[in-house]
Amino acid sequence: MTTRQNSSSDASLLLEVPAKINFWLEVLNRRPDGYHNVSSLMLPIGIHDRVTAARRERGIELGGDGGGVPLDRNNLAWRAAEIFLGARPDLGGVRLELTKRIPVAAGLGGGSADAAAVLLLLNRLAEPPLSLPDLARLAVQLGADVPFFLRRCPALATGIGEILEPIHGLPPYPLVLIKAPVAVATALVYSRLKLTRGGARTRIATLLAHPWEPRRHLVNDLEAVTLEMHPRLKQIKAWLYRRGALGVLMSGSGPTVFAVYRTLPEARAIGSEADNEWPECWVGVTEVLASPSTGVGR
Ligand code: ATP
Repeated sequence: MTTRQNSSSDASLLLEVPAKINFWLEVLNRRPDGYHNVSSLMLPIGIHDRVTAARRERGIELGGDGGGVPLDRNNLAWRAAEIFLGARPDLGGVRLELTKRIPVAAGLGGGSADAAAVLLLLNRLAEPPLSLPDLARLAVQLGADVPFFLRRCPALATGIGEILEPIHGLPPYPLVLIKAPVAVATALVYSRLKLTRGGARTRIATLLAHPWEPRRHLVNDLEAVTLEMHPRLKQIKAWLYRRGALGVLMSGSGPTVFAVYRTLPEARAIGSEADNEWPECWVGVTEVLASPSTGVGR
C-alpha cells in the first residue's frame, strides 16, 4: 500500500489488489444457510484492480472506472466502506476511487478483491486499526471470498472459503486466461453440480512434490455443469491443450478458463495466438503471485 498526497494535502492511500484463480475447487456440501462448504486452493494472480481511499468528513463517495459496475451502493467497494464505517463510525466518511482491470463476473473474484481492498485501506486510515480477525469478520459478511483477499497469498480455503491456510512453496506458474463473453448463472450451476469428496491434504502434498504436473490436480466441481451450458468453453480448453498447456481449468464459477505453461515467454506467445483465434474473448497473460504480497504498509 502506498500513500499519495493530493492537492488539498490530505493523504490518500492506494492499494493494487490482485485477482484469484481456483487451482482446484471442490464443493463438499450445501449448508442449511444456503452457502456451500468448499475445499479450494486459491492463488492470487498478477492482474490487479486499483483502489484509493481518503478520509472525508462523512458519507461515502465512489468514483473512477467501475468497468461497467455501477459506482453506487450496488458496488461491493461501497458496501465494504459501509460495513467498515458501521463498525468504526469515528472514521467519519471516505472518498474512494476504483480502477477496474480484473474482468467483471469472470470467476476471478474482482468484486471480492475490491471489497477487501476497501477494508484494508479504511483500516489503515482508522486509528487504532481493527485487528486482522476483526477485519476478517467484516470481510466474510461481504462474501465468502473476501477474507482471501485480505491476505492475498496462496491458501487452502475451507468452510465457505473463509478458513484459510497459507500454502508456501508453489512456483509462480505462468498463465494464459481466456474469458468468453458468456454469462454464467452461478445459482443454476450450483443447483446442478455433482459433489465430490475433498482430498485436499493429499493433493497439496502431491502438488508440492510434483509442481509441474498440474493437470493431476486441476479439479473444479462447477466446471462440468458450466461447460455443458457453454460448449464454447470446452472448445477453448481443447484449444489450449493443443497449444501445449500443462493443465487447463475453469476458475470459480467461470467463465474464465486458465492454462498453465512452463515459461512466461511461452504463455505470451500463446496469449498472442489466442487474441487472433478468439477475438471476441478477453485474453490475459500473467503469473501466479506465489510469494506473500507486500501487504499493508504506507
Ligand atoms: P467470484 O469468482 O467471487 O464468484 P466473479 O469474479 O465471478 O466472482 P465479480 O467480478 O466479483 O465476479 O462480479 C460478480 C458480481 O458482483 C457482478 O454481477 C457485479 O455486478 C457485482 N459487483 C459488485 N461490485 C463489484 C466490483 N467492485 N467489481 C466487480 N463486480 C462487482
